[in-house]
Amino acid sequence: MSAQPDLLAVAKLPPFLMEPLQARFTVHTSLDSAPLDRIRGIAGSGESKVPADLIAKLPALEIVSIMGVGYDGVDVAAAKARGVMVTHTPDVLNDDVADLAIALALNIARRIPQAERYLRQGRWASEGPVPLATKLSGARMGIVGMGRIGQAIAERARAFGMHIAYTARSAKPDLPYTFHDQVTALAAASDFLVIITPGGAATRKLIDAKVLAALGPKGYLVNVARGSVVDEAALIDALQKGTIAGAALDVFENEPNVPEALRTLDNAVLVPHIGSATRATRQAMADLARHNLELHFAGQQPKTPVPECR
Ligand code: NAP
Repeated sequence: MSAQPDLLAVAKLPPFLMEPLQARFTVHTSLDSAPLDRIRGIAGSGESKVPADLIAKLPALEIVSIMGVGYDGVDVAAAKARGVMVTHTPDVLNDDVADLAIALALNIARRIPQAERYLRQGRWASEGPVPLATKLSGARMGIVGMGRIGQAIAERARAFGMHIAYTARSAKPDLPYTFHDQVTALAAASDFLVIITPGGAATRKLIDAKVLAALGPKGYLVNVARGSVVDEAALIDALQKGTIAGAALDVFENEPNVPEALRTLDNAVLVPHIGSATRATRQAMADLARHNLELHFAGQQPKTPVPECR
């Protein structure tokens, strides 16, 4: 075994994570050339895939450190069965993702990108004012997932005088918001439906044609969770037919590929998975992901194991 533990990077890690890792570990970036029997740790991002067959190829694997809060690409059951620790980076990104959710809701309601395009195209001068938009302050926000980020979104929405309701696996009696145990009922009671659950099998296509129909022709969908949570084909159909008023999306089913049908819709605001993409937050995530690895290889419990590994 080399003096420094061998790590496999399964994502293109940013330099502010890669460089400090390279100072402490021997980091391999290709599975093909990595010494499989010596790899003791995996470093990845929230979008990384760490399936059971990869874990099976790495007999010395001890830890998977994800720089991101979502770890739906990691087969945690397979890792646990082998005694492999899985860590992620919760909390440090709550503010950024919540800020973006509110920004997206404002952008789709007030049609800010559309209005900006209108101005740049010279249409203000030639055609006059843009059509009127939708008021966000005081409207009803339904939040699907009332965890760390969902609560940060709700706090911001309260400052806009919004009426807040939510769904989650269980009610949160300590929170001053209305709980619906069915997402369809929540959608029917919302002007803005904001999705912020984990991805993975349990939430796949949770937002389907029925939920979109319940949201209705005046309702807006905001997705900052994972593309897998929304039935994208049903969403495109709902946007084309006016079943819902609009959608603002940070995440997509098959990133970085976004269907042409979605990209050409005027009632959609689309951004390329930028929920946590500020310098400050990505640095904090990188520091926590590195710290988890360092603690583990110093024989200590990592700071933020995923719930299944606590
Ligand atoms: P969290 O604290 O674990 O909260 C998750 C919430 O979702 C909880 O309220 C949970 O319910 C609820 N939930 C889980 N499974 C559900 C289901 N099947 N049906 C309905 N609700 C369900 O996680 P978080 O830190 O807020 O992060 C949430 C997710 O946001 C991450 O997993 C990630 O996928 C996504 N995310 C996206 C970005 C981005 O860049 N766009 C950035 C960060 C995170 P209970 O409270 O009842 O358990």
